[in-house]
Amino acid sequence: MDSYRLIVVGGGLCGAAAAYELAKKGASVLLVDESAEVSGATRYSYGGIAYWAGKTQLTNELCAAARARYPQLSEELLGYDIQFRPRSLLLTIDGDRNPVEVARDYVCCVDKPQLLTVAEAVEREPLLEAQNISGAFEVEHGHVCPVAMTQAYRQAFERLGGTIRIGLVEKLLREGNAIKGIQLEGEAIESKHVVISAGAWSREILQQQGVELPLYFSHAEMIEVSSAQAADIQMQSLVMPAEQKRFGLEAQMGEATVAAQWRQEEDKELMPPVLDAGVIQFQDGHIAMGQISRIQTSTAARANAEESEAAIREKVRRVLPKVADLPGQWHSTLVALSGDGLPLIGPVPGLENLLLFSGFGSPFVYAVPLAQRFAQCSNFAKDPWLGKMLPARFL
Ligand SMILES: Cc1cc2nc3c(=O)[nH]c(=O)nc-3n(C[C@H](O)[C@H](O)[C@H](O)COP(=O)(O)OP(=O)(O)OC[C@H]3O[C@@H](n4cnc5c(N)ncnc54)[C@H](O)[C@@H]3O)c2cc1C
Repeated sequence: MDSYRLIVVGGGLCGAAAAYELAKKGASVLLVDESAEVSGATRYSYGGIAYWAGKTQLTNELCAAARARYPQLSEELLGYDIQFRPRSLLLTIDGDRNPVEVARDYVCCVDKPQLLTVAEAVEREPLLEAQNISGAFEVEHGHVCPVAMTQAYRQAFERLGGTIRIGLVEKLLREGNAIKGIQLEGEAIESKHVVISAGAWSREILQQQGVELPLYFSHAEMIEVSSAQAADIQMQSLVMPAEQKRFGLEAQMGEATVAAQWRQEEDKELMPPVLDAGVIQFQDGHIAMGQISRIQTSTAARANAEESEAAIREKVRRVLPKVADLPGQWHSTLVALSGDGLPLIGPVPGLENLLLFSGFGSPFVYAVPLAQRFAQCSNFAKDPWLGKMLPARFL
């Protein structure tokens, strides 16, 4: 039977980052993912690094740490281009909204986005439809290719001596309250610790062990336009709405009535879906446009692809009409969230040897410095960052 010091379950952005940082510290680590290709939420992500958006001392510190880490990381993952670059982000304000009122959402940001008039916004991004916006905010955003970055972490992890296995982790091996390893497609693999970083599926893995924590997920839908399909489009900026409804949806996860509904076993849609019209063009020219977010309690729930695609295109048409009707492919995925907007990092209460590294709201900014800290940390409760992210805070 193989034996490791640590097994990380899930090789999306978060699991791959954690595995890499742990291997860098010299640990013997096995990273397991169901898929050899980057999949899950990371596959369809926009890859935006909002290191301007911190609003508390903790998030400001993490934003500063991410800002310092990315250029370093690009060098450290040598040979793998994560396509890290600063980009102008335009946050568009709907035509019927007062920009001064919307600006209140941004006054506390560590780097305050600058309010632009309609003419200034169109000067920055000529594809914008002037008559449907009342202005925009501009801020410097970081941007990477999520798939390239995750592959880079995975490959750098292997170069450090880490092992990757592809397959489904069916269950955790357990003796009494102690986790002893995993069962991977019928094979038992032992380890001193298991780290769950399986994105939206982390919830199911915990539930199999009888653990209920406010680690939830949303169903996200977007349209992907290949670089060939987007050959005639050259966007100057990344474009997102200034008032993202997704944040309101996620904030409701902290409500006791919502938490109670997650605890019931049946599949339910807990609130109406929201649509945030955004368009992101990547360095290779391909485009992601979206996104619809739904809070539905089953991982197996499926949306109506045709209706969703039409709804996304209709909303995008109001902001970027030349992009809205490009041919493309609709996709849906699951995105992990937590009950209070902070990730769940550290020991799972009630079980020995089981750790969590999941539930990040904006992992491209937060998971990168936190993976480093996670790998270095011997006392989670005493760490000024990780001490605030312990799963035990919800007990
Ligand atoms: C459209 C869209 C845009 C986004 N834009 C941004 C953005 O701009 N900035 C930002 O910070 N975030 C963004 N996000 C969110 C971000 O992409 C996700 O939060 C992040 O990718 C999650 O990474 P993860 O590693 O936690 O989960 P995932 O990427 O979902 O990875 C989980 C992995 O676990 C594996 N797995 C699960 N169960 C098992 C099992 N039993 N056995 C083996 N393997 C298993 C899966 O195969 C998967 O690879 C966006 C998300 C979407 C959908």
